[in-house]
Amino acid sequence: MQVIKTIDKLRPIVKAWKKEGLRVGLVPTMGYLHEGHKSLIVRAVSENDKVVVSDFVNPTQFGAGEDLASYPRDIDRDAAICEQAGADLIFHPEPEEMYFTDNCTFVDMDGLTKGLCGKTRPTHFRGVCTVVSKLFHIVAPDRAYFGQKDAQQLAVIRRMARDLNFDIEIVGCPIVREADGLAMSSRNTYLNDAERKAALILHKSLMLGKEMIEQGEHDASQIKKAIISNIESEPLAKVDYVEIVNPDTMENIDTVEDLALIATAVYIGKTRLIDNVM
Ligand code: AMP
Repeated sequence: MQVIKTIDKLRPIVKAWKKEGLRVGLVPTMGYLHEGHKSLIVRAVSENDKVVVSDFVNPTQFGAGEDLASYPRDIDRDAAICEQAGADLIFHPEPEEMYFTDNCTFVDMDGLTKGLCGKTRPTHFRGVCTVVSKLFHIVAPDRAYFGQKDAQQLAVIRRMARDLNFDIEIVGCPIVREADGLAMSSRNTYLNDAERKAALILHKSLMLGKEMIEQGEHDASQIKKAIISNIESEPLAKVDYVEIVNPDTMENIDTVEDLALIATAVYIGKTRLIDNVM
């Protein structure tokens, strides 16, 4: 597996592929890959001639006091997973390669980024939009793959690609879960045994909300109330938010009639986990 660390080395490789008329897929990640990431890579491999996986813990999407320094990293393990999944190369730059020391240009978005994760992490989506724009310019893929696990991020990227006229198809991929329902996440490695068990409350509570809707409850406030009290029944869990929103606009829904996204962020001990269900 080729691990490319600089933009100057990556660009000619992709340009040569394009010259041959090959279709290029991009899978942006922060590394420490798991089956969720792998499902995106496998999908990209099945739909493109060449696949680039970016593996970069992007500092601009972390706020002060967040886990930038402790975020798990293992490029050798990631390279093996990418190889297995059939990717063609990994782009693994250092922060200095991606950001000039006097960088002063960012991509920001109103609206969609203000609620849900944007409330607790007010600069997060500016960092995400900035790094994804940069990756789109550097790799110039035909398609880019993102997980529904980060539902708000997926909606934000779709909107950004539309608003900024990126000629890139944004492909959303389903959430991959552990056998017991926990959504896979690189941050699950922070959980101790008791927290790992407690973390099941996210998926269980979301399923409770989904069942309520399926049984005819349409009042979003009632559904949210039930989900929050279910999460709070777990002593190690602390709710950051539970929201029921339109999956494209991230606007709150009062009465659930159409497709709705129930999204939650919950602290399990010190670890903040997110999950959602459509
Ligand atoms: P991350 O490395 O956490 O930034 O994630 C990189 C990409 O993988 C994002 O598009 C995520 O939404 C996606 N992803 C992360 N976890 C999962 C999962 N459990 N299932 C599907 N996609 C995921």
